[in-house]
Order: sequence, then C-alpha cells, then structure tokens
Amino acid sequence: MGKSAVRGTMRWSARRQTQGSSFVPIRLLPPELASKIAAGEVIERPVSVVKELIENAIDAGASRVDVAIEQGGRRLIRVEDDGCGIASDQVELAFARHATSKLASADELYDIRTLGFRGEALASIAAVSHVTLSTRAADDETGTRIRVAGGQVARVEAVGRPVGTGVTVEHLFYNTPPRLKFLRTDATEAGHVARLLSAYALAFPALRFSLTHGGRSVLSTTGTGSLYDAIMAVYGLDVAEEMLEIPRADGQELSVWGYVSGPSVHRSSRQDVTLLVNRRWIQDNSLSYAIGEAYQSLLPQRRHPVVVLNITLPPRDVDVNVHPTKREVRFQRPREVFVAVQRAVRTTLMAQGNVPVIAHIGGREEGWTAGDRAAYTPSLLLPDDGLGGGEVRGAWAGPGAGGDLVGGERLPMLRVIGQLAQTYILAEGPGGLYLIDQHAAHERIRYEELSTQAQRAAVVTQELLEPRVVELSPRLAELVEEHVEELARVGLVVSPFGSGTLLVRAVPQHLVGGDVEAALAELVEAAEEGGEAFSWLDQALVTLSCHTAIRAGQTLSLDEMRDLVRSLERCALPHTCPHGRPTLIQMTRDQLEREFGRR
Ligand code: ADP
Ligand code: MG
Repeated sequence: MGKSAVRGTMRWSARRQTQGSSFVPIRLLPPELASKIAAGEVIERPVSVVKELIENAIDAGASRVDVAIEQGGRRLIRVEDDGCGIASDQVELAFARHATSKLASADELYDIRTLGFRGEALASIAAVSHVTLSTRAADDETGTRIRVAGGQVARVEAVGRPVGTGVTVEHLFYNTPPRLKFLRTDATEAGHVARLLSAYALAFPALRFSLTHGGRSVLSTTGTGSLYDAIMAVYGLDVAEEMLEIPRADGQELSVWGYVSGPSVHRSSRQDVTLLVNRRWIQDNSLSYAIGEAYQSLLPQRRHPVVVLNITLPPRDVDVNVHPTKREVRFQRPREVFVAVQRAVRTTLMAQGNVPVIAHIGGREEGWTAGDRAAYTPSLLLPDDGLGGGEVRGAWAGPGAGGDLVGGERLPMLRVIGQLAQTYILAEGPGGLYLIDQHAAHERIRYEELSTQAQRAAVVTQELLEPRVVELSPRLAELVEEHVEELARVGLVVSPFGSGTLLVRAVPQHLVGGDVEAALAELVEAAEEGGEAFSWLDQALVTLSCHTAIRAGQTLSLDEMRDLVRSLERCALPHTCPHGRPTLIQMTRDQLEREFGRR
C-alpha cells in the first residue's frame, strides 16, 4: 500500500532519468493493466494462491481445508473448505478489488483479528488465471458457481452443494508470460506449497488439513487441537519425540509458547523454524536470530533447530499491514518480543537437556524409552544473558515424571572409575554407566569459565614477554584489526604491525603454552565463512576453549579426572561441548541388565 506507492515513484523517476529531459505525460493505467500490476504484488507463484485461499477458508471458520495441486500448482490449484460459505447475492462482489467482509472501518485496521482484510486476493488471483468458485452459505437453499477468467466474470449459475466453499484456479499466469517463466520446477513449487501447509497445520492444530500433489497425498493432519499431534503429522514421530515443550503461561498479554527441538535434532537451514504471531505465519530475522542465540553452543555450527513458536499478544500491539503478502509484521515493542522469545527458548533448553544414551549394543534395537527419562527438578541459575541479569528459575518436572535421576539440566554426582583409550573417562552415576569425552567435556568447562569472565570483564590474561608474530594475508589481517576490541574482551590482545602482520601481546592464562597462531588462524577462518550472524566474541570463546582444553590421547591421573568431572557437574550446560557435540553418553542400568540377559 504505502510501500507500493513509494516503489512506484522510484520506478517513475528512474524512467525519467533514462529518458533525459523529454516530456512524458502522466496517464491513468487501463483497469486491466492496473489489476495485473496489483496482482503482481500478491500473487508471485502458486504458493501465493494457496496461501490466500487457505487464509480465506480459515477466516470462514472452516474445520477442514483440503488442498489439491497439479503440476506444482501451475495447471491446477483446488482448495475446499467447510466454512460459512458466501451468500449467493455476494458472490460476484467477492471478486471486486477492495471488497471484503472483514473490515468495516479504518479503526479496525489497527485491531486485525482475521488473516485477510484487504479484499484483494480473489480479485488478484482472478486477474491472472481462470477461477471457478462454488459456494453455499448455510442460509441459502442452493449454492452458486461463478467462473472468472482474466478478471472478467464469464458465468454465474446455481448449483447444489454442501455448505462451504471450493475454489479452483487453473492456468495460473496464462496472461502474464514473464511470471510463468520465473516459476521453478514442479517439485520446487510443490515444495513451497507443502511448507506453507505445514506452517498452517502447526498454526491451527484444531483444523484438519490435507494436501495432494498429482493425486498423491503429501500431508494430512488430524485436527485434534493438540500442537504436538500437528508436529507429529508434519515432522514425524522421530522428531516429535525430541521436541521440548514451552508451556503457555496464563494471564499474560505477551506470551511465547510451543515446541523447540533438543540438541540431537538439527537441520542445514532455518526452513523448520516456524514463527507464528497470533497464529499468522511470519518471517522475522531478528527473532530467528534470538532463537539462534538461545541455541548458542548447543548445536553444531551452522546447523538450525526445529522450532514451532507461537507469539501471542494483543492485536493492537502488532501491525500486520506492512508487507504485501503479510509475511512480515511490525511489533510496537520489538525488544520485548525479542527478549521474551530468547528467554523462553533458552530456559526450556537449559531445563530439559538430556544426556544422549547409547541406543543399542550388540545389534539390539531397543533404545532408551521415555519412561527411562528422568523427572528432574532443577533449580537453576541462568547465567547473565545480558537481558536482565541472572535469575533463579522455578522447578520443572520432566515429561513422564518418575524414574531414575538421569536427565535434567545439571549432572548428577559421578564416581570416576578410570580412563579408556586415553580419551574417555568412565564414571558411575545414579543412571548407570557414563562415558565422558575428556576433550569435549573440558572444552565445555573452559567455555563457561571464559564466558563468565568475559561477561564480567575479568578474563585472566597473561602478557607475553616476547609478543608473538602472526602473519596473515593483508585482507584477513585487516578483518582482525576491525575486531581487536572484541578479542581483547576474551584476553587476546592483538595489535596490527602493518602489511598482514599482527602482534599478539597478551593471551588468556591457559593459552600461554598453547598454539596462539593456530587459534588465531582458526578464528579468522571461521569469521571469513561466518554469515551475517557471526559474532567474533562467541567464536573467540569457542576457539579459545578448544585450544586450551585437554586433548584426546592425554593420560590423566585419577585426581585430574575427578577434578574434570566435578567441574563438568558445575557447568550450566554440561551435556554438549561448545561445538554442539555431546560431552558424555550413558548406558542405563536397565540397558545393562537387558544386555546381560538379567531381565
Ligand atoms: P479478504 O480475505 O481480504 O476479505 P478476499 O479477496 O480474499 O479478501 O475475499 C473477499 C471476500 O470473499 C472475503 O472477505 C469473504 O467475505 C469472501 N470469501 C472469500 N473466500 C471465502 C471462503 N472460502 N469462505 C467464505 N467466504 C469467503
Ligand atoms: Mg483473503
């Protein structure tokens, strides 16, 4: 709206420039061209049509929404619902631009409670395809069928049909060949539709959704009303079982709830992070970043979790009218939402992280069952996350309360038995046998030590008598120079010495005997690869922890192992190293008994 007006002006002035000073008269566009341009804003590809039609179905109070597409949606898209239908005398009007039943006054625009409200979708779809809509409202005896092609009503007739609405869209973009050319393969277009359906299934677990492509079922949900069931339908049981619940808090204006995956599930893209604002599926870089931060050091680098997050707040506190397809929204208090999201995700992860368990030995397939999983009631101290200081969180009872004390956020007390292959520490605990990776565990310990020190600006550093000289390419050296302050915060005091040479003058205490050059090189390499969310501070913490930790292959005395295990027990997130790999695995007593045939 406002946005497209601005964009129009920009195009206009660009054209004036290319045409020099010659006079170009202003003309009103013919209606047909104007409606094609308007349609272009909303309808970009088949998935845009599906989005508008299922939103209409949901707004109509449907309890089921069935979607069928052919050839990725370019040949046919059909959406059927059992919603309220459209009264026969209103059917034609529904296709007029800016015709809507959802908005009556300007005031309501700031208090939107429906998915649609602009009255543009049907008009836009009909401008660039052949549409057949058949519908019946509960009060009408017969239904109505209307055909619209290229924006022109071709036919209206009475039909018999159940209450509800079905819309069939054929030959999308038949009259806008450039749009057609931009479409990808059928599989890609169908993939977008499947992703969309998944998002709506997750947003509205009480509705039954189905999607078929070329007659083959792609997705179907049961509409039980439970978000967990929807997650199961979309991602399958294996993922669902690894999801951790963020319960909905009552009585708050702003609440964040849903499910986040535990550290064992991760994906190569952000594709499976679903953000829902008052059940509207949105994209928001800043909130995605907040979630990524909450997973900091829990997942391997450049991996992403599976997340379904509902953000519920009064409609007046969010502007949904800022984007042509409403994929972005504007919060009145974005910082509050950011903090709420980050805190909700982080708290859940910290309270419920589990030790991975050896799934099977000797070819036996039984894994660890949810029943083995402990009910653990931690009272944990959140480290200062810069979002309001450390605080004590209340108790949390795990899923399926009852059982041994094995899961949970902190480690139980462990008794060291010995070392294996100079790499693993064997220990006994209330949950059975634990195998601890000495390097990974020590990395975790170092990481938490260093982060705490860095947060308090109290890193223990040591000046080097002889500064170390590190040679890098001039470009990389320059990159480091731009971040010397962040490096100093973790105890790495570096100063440029011209033409790619850097002088390292001081290092964190534990790095004194270590390979400073390698650590710095690794950090720079990561910075070079790192995307927009790269943080020098975080990466420096990870790299330094790795370079100051005990290596695999190092023999440890019993006392050294005990110290290490005690320190790991004190960590806030003891189960993974800062790269996201497990620090320990476990074999339950139950498993041992089964393996030895005692049960
Ligand atoms: P909007 O959704 O913004 O109101 P649309 O162009 O999508 O605009 O739809 C126009 C109107 O047609 C809606 O306001 C609604 O009254 C009616 N309508 C469209 N689709 C349906 C449907 N599936 N069930 C009932 N009414 C519908
Ligand atoms: Mg609509």
